[in-house]
Amino acid sequence: MDENKFYIGIDLGGTDIKGGVVDGKGNIVYSHSDPTETAKGAETVMDNIAKLTGYLLKKSGISIENTVGIGMGVPGMIDSKKGEVIFSNNFGWKHVAISEGIAKRTGFSVKIANDANVAALGEAYFGAGSEYDDCVMITLGTGVGSGIIAGKKLFEGNKSAGAEIGHMVICYGGEQCTCGRKGCFEAYSSATALKRDTKRAMEAHKDSKMWEIGSTDNVSGRTAFDYKDKDVYAKEVVDNYIEKLACGLANIANVFRPHVIMLGGGVSNQGDNLVIPVQKALDREIFAGEEGPACPVRIAKLGNKAGILGAAALLMDRI
Ligand SMILES: [Zn+2]
Repeated sequence: MDENKFYIGIDLGGTDIKGGVVDGKGNIVYSHSDPTETAKGAETVMDNIAKLTGYLLKKSGISIENTVGIGMGVPGMIDSKKGEVIFSNNFGWKHVAISEGIAKRTGFSVKIANDANVAALGEAYFGAGSEYDDCVMITLGTGVGSGIIAGKKLFEGNKSAGAEIGHMVICYGGEQCTCGRKGCFEAYSSATALKRDTKRAMEAHKDSKMWEIGSTDNVSGRTAFDYKDKDVYAKEVVDNYIEKLACGLANIANVFRPHVIMLGGGVSNQGDNLVIPVQKALDREIFAGEEGPACPVRIAKLGNKAGILGAAALLMDRI
């Protein structure tokens, strides 16, 4: 790693393109975001990325010679080797050769990967996993996102279609998942699943203190956690959530035995309320128990900076 080199990290979203100039230590020297203009099509989006790149370099005062290239996280199914977006629901794209398009416009080499994988790489390099080689990141949001970093490198599988840990079944024939299977980790550990279970508990127990929020329409991923110390039904929801989450994390630990599992997404804002009981359940479930190496669970640190930093990290070689 050359400390005088800089990296352009782009976090491409459906609404905004977030970009930053990043140094080798993971400091964002300068950042800016522009509208993506998704509706105008792929060519316009690529024009906008190129424009943003030029603006970032101009404003940061970093020379082209000291810039290694452009790394980018893109939502959807990405063939990172070919630099192609195979399919992206957010953009309505199929087979868009985005790396080539941006390389032509900017003269820089371009590396891309799926945005969840890129965020995981950012955390592994510069966040909660920075001290470790093998990390798994789990994002507990609307769905369950995931990224696997093995030996400080992103593991993506064939056509980068792997690392979908959210769709590992933890309860055969269980809750319906959005992917078509039943009993997926995501169907128990997403914020969506937590809200579903909170609403069910309220409907089943009209005497629950959670009704203080007025209506099940007001249920959020926080509701059961907010009431767990004063309402037995809320506590049941939280305890069940923790057990299912720990079951999935134990499966991950048994397969990969990473140095750390990092939790991000909305539910991870619970901090110690989440990590302490999950760690306890994981320690109980993990293969070889106390005899094996522990698998610590940590809350992700970078928040929405993970996208830019992870994109820059695509261009870095830590081995
Ligand atoms: Zn699924």
